[in-house]
Amino acid sequence: MNDSRIRDVVIVGGGTAGWMAAAALSATMGEQLRIRLVESEQIGTVGVGEATIPAIRLFNGLVGIDENEFICATQGSFKLGIEFIDWGRVGESYMHVFGQLGQSLDLIEFWQYWLRGREEAISEPIGHYSFNEEAARNLRFARVPRIPNTHLDGISYAFHFDAGLYAKFLRGLAEKNGATRTEGMITGVSRNPENGHIRSITLDSGEEIAGELFIDCSGFRGLLIEQELETGYVDWTHWLLCDRAIAVPTENVGPPRPYTQSIAHPAGWQWRIPLQHRTGNGHVFSTEYISEDEATALLLKTVEGKPLADPRTIPFKTGMRRKAWNANVIALGLSSGFIEPLESTSIHLIQNGIAKLISHFPDREFRQANVDAYNRRIEYDYERIRDFIILHYHANQRDEAFWTRCREMDVPDTLRDKIDLFRATGRIFREQEELFVEVGWFQVLNGQNIVPETYHPLADALTKEELAGFLRDIRTIVANNAARLPTHAEFIAATCAAQ
Ligand code: FAD
Repeated sequence: MNDSRIRDVVIVGGGTAGWMAAAALSATMGEQLRIRLVESEQIGTVGVGEATIPAIRLFNGLVGIDENEFICATQGSFKLGIEFIDWGRVGESYMHVFGQLGQSLDLIEFWQYWLRGREEAISEPIGHYSFNEEAARNLRFARVPRIPNTHLDGISYAFHFDAGLYAKFLRGLAEKNGATRTEGMITGVSRNPENGHIRSITLDSGEEIAGELFIDCSGFRGLLIEQELETGYVDWTHWLLCDRAIAVPTENVGPPRPYTQSIAHPAGWQWRIPLQHRTGNGHVFSTEYISEDEATALLLKTVEGKPLADPRTIPFKTGMRRKAWNANVIALGLSSGFIEPLESTSIHLIQNGIAKLISHFPDREFRQANVDAYNRRIEYDYERIRDFIILHYHANQRDEAFWTRCREMDVPDTLRDKIDLFRATGRIFREQEELFVEVGWFQVLNGQNIVPETYHPLADALTKEELAGFLRDIRTIVANNAARLPTHAEFIAATCAAQ
């Protein structure tokens, strides 16, 4: 038995990151660890972060969440993807939906056939070949793992939820599994003089809480990772110019869409996230190109329902902590870095950090090779997501100063290589553990009007008639099956009525 085993874990902060960490660690390692979480109601949480990607279902499964109970308890809705409006050019829209697009044949992706069909004027808009998009555009939803009697996948989905209610829900699970919560403001930190590791935190009540491993979930302030350990920050604001968000909830207008909307504006973009009891809205923008007052006015002019609260400002700096793990502190959530919520990746990065923490779980020796390996993997994940977000800004044909700068700027080499390969050949290759799969990249590249010079030669293996039949069959199957689904509103109502 290894007697350097870690017993005492202290989680600093009780936002989405803190409670996700507490729920996951108590579910998986609760027998071995004493988990204490400290949070301050006086400080509160960031209070946004309501759209997710399908991987969250793995996390919810890991911590033992009943999905129907969770949807009702968090006023949640189902998410099939994101609609991007005015991103390429004003007046255009496309969707980045989850799940399969058409059907791959032989060794090549479906869109290679679609590209050939486009040249021959027999392809319909790409979304017509996606079950998720057909369901989304028709406001329909159901859990369908596969389209019966076909080779086509069914619905792939994530959620929208009220972030405060999600944290509360996770708290219930974590406490049931033995994690404990302390209310209080952390006012002091003590270090071990020998190695600089954090030994304890002190609360305003005078109570001292000692630990062996500290998880910093204190939000943008990075109480331990930055204020105490001065780890440093890698700044990406030269690529991602937005530095502020204004958020405002509104009353719902019409039935909830089973997708997020992202609407480009002259110096940023606006989100619309449908929940059962309200719609979350926000305008993410660059203060270099629009004032906060103008940005607020634009948001209030373009929301669909009546505001339910005053608009709230959230400044941010895009980038990541130089090391997510420093000494005996691991930063999760906003304390580890921030990439704007254009593709709903922050909660995923929390989940990813927790999964990797479990696989790299240390003992009291805190072996450097293990810490370095964790940091390398986290850095890789952040950088690939950063590239994907930059793509949305870079591939535009708009004419405002903000958008012109985004189009003309140098982008990271890793992104440049992807764009060049796609433009030349229509090909996309996913690297290592990169989060977004090829079909996700395709939808954004294509949706923002990057047109490949050619398509894969294997797409010519079909005759024109065969290709037309292949495209038509998929189109028909997708449309017919989507039309049979219940509406999203009906599905939620039935789910919550049964609770
Ligand atoms: P916080 O919510 O800020 O929590 C910090 C915690 O630390 C609080 O409990 C606070 O009380 C505690 N704390 C801090 N200092 C002290 C102290 N001294 N003593 C005691 N306690 C302390 N993510 C998505 O995945 N999807 C989205 O759609 C999305 N939209 C976003 C929109 C915006 C504008 C922003 C800014 C973020 C968005 N995010 C989104 C990110 C998401 O909100 C965060 O990743 C998530 O909420 C995690 O936040 P957190 O727990 O790290 O920090």
